[in-house]
Amino acid sequence: MSTTHTHLTGDTKIADWFKDPYGGPVIRQMLAESGQSEKAMAPVKRFSMNKLIKISGGRFTQETLDMLIERAEAAAAEGGSPEQAVEGSEPVTPDDVSTLTDGADELPEWKERITEGRFTGQTVVVTGAGSGIGRATASRVAREGGRVIALDISAERLESLAKELDGSDVTVVTADVTKDEDIARVLEAAGGKVDALANVAGIMDNMTPLHEVSDQVWERVFSVNVTGLMKLTRAVLPLMLEVGKGSVVNIASEAGLRGSAAGVAYTASKHAVVGLTKSSAFMYGPSGIRVNAVAPGGVITNIEARFDSELGQDRVMGALVVAPPPTTADQLAASITFLLSDDGVNLNGVILPSDGGWSAV
Ligand code: NAD
Repeated sequence: MSTTHTHLTGDTKIADWFKDPYGGPVIRQMLAESGQSEKAMAPVKRFSMNKLIKISGGRFTQETLDMLIERAEAAAAEGGSPEQAVEGSEPVTPDDVSTLTDGADELPEWKERITEGRFTGQTVVVTGAGSGIGRATASRVAREGGRVIALDISAERLESLAKELDGSDVTVVTADVTKDEDIARVLEAAGGKVDALANVAGIMDNMTPLHEVSDQVWERVFSVNVTGLMKLTRAVLPLMLEVGKGSVVNIASEAGLRGSAAGVAYTASKHAVVGLTKSSAFMYGPSGIRVNAVAPGGVITNIEARFDSELGQDRVMGALVVAPPPTTADQLAASITFLLSDDGVNLNGVILPSDGGWSAV
């Protein structure tokens, strides 16, 4: 372990920022100013600062990074003792540093590798495309040559997606997957051709166990996660049956594989997604349609999860200690697009955990 100062940039991993004798104090002070400690950064410390800007949803900006670099480099140039990098900050000792390192920090950062033309000539419908996993999936398909019909309930998020993918073949449709009239508009935008469908839109519950779950939470979670997914897939399947080819990827969850990852409504809804996937794979396999699911572990997105139950919080938080740190939406898009594309040939009815190994625990 070294506490030697190295040149800090946006490509420097967050863990290395913490280890740096000048970078560590400035980043700790920034966290302290917002009432947080370095523990808050534990799930992301293996990522670079540039990656943090991308996944933080505007909470960590380029300006903040520039300020951190300027302060750390200025202190290093002055050659003072490391703790002078931030007035009043604690000196960095090897003990401080050791709490921030574990094996994962030392691994090289994953870099997305585009497969040119993998979706050329294909129309791919992606739900929940305004944010998180759906957005990363829509982006990956578009950048690999596909025509994307991107739908989301949020017009604002779709607008920002369209801006980001300007120049690609992306049609955005503001639509609620639970509404038949909205689904009809999605089919209209597709224009009679859908080669692949990624059912990504979904919502969390409030972590309530069965004796505490409200009708409202149960019904809302099932209507988006199960009924909406069923309705859109039901509308798309005739187009795939007509041509004898198609690929559907449903987003389940670790909560579709075990009982310890969420409340009863979300857990039951994601188990239903697994059942829907297997039934459809069985029914349509002979017709050339593959239906698979990806079960993500923790992913850093905008999904809202809150704990409205003490029992739910105690049980779920206790179980989460075995979960690997959350990953990024583009890593999920890598798994989803693999199954969506022809690379998934010979895979049907698979429930693919994309969870860093959580399901192996
Ligand atoms: P997210 O909230 O960042 O994105 C979901 C998007 O779906 C949002 O843009 C939202 O506006 C949209 N949406 C919600 N309801 C909709 C509706 N009725 N019609 C159309 N669009 C709707 O969340 P995310 O984390 O990217 O979640 C994507 C999927 O991944 C969900 O099915 C979720 O259950 C699943 N998942 C997420 C995680 C995680 O840790 N983030 C883990 C396991 C599974």
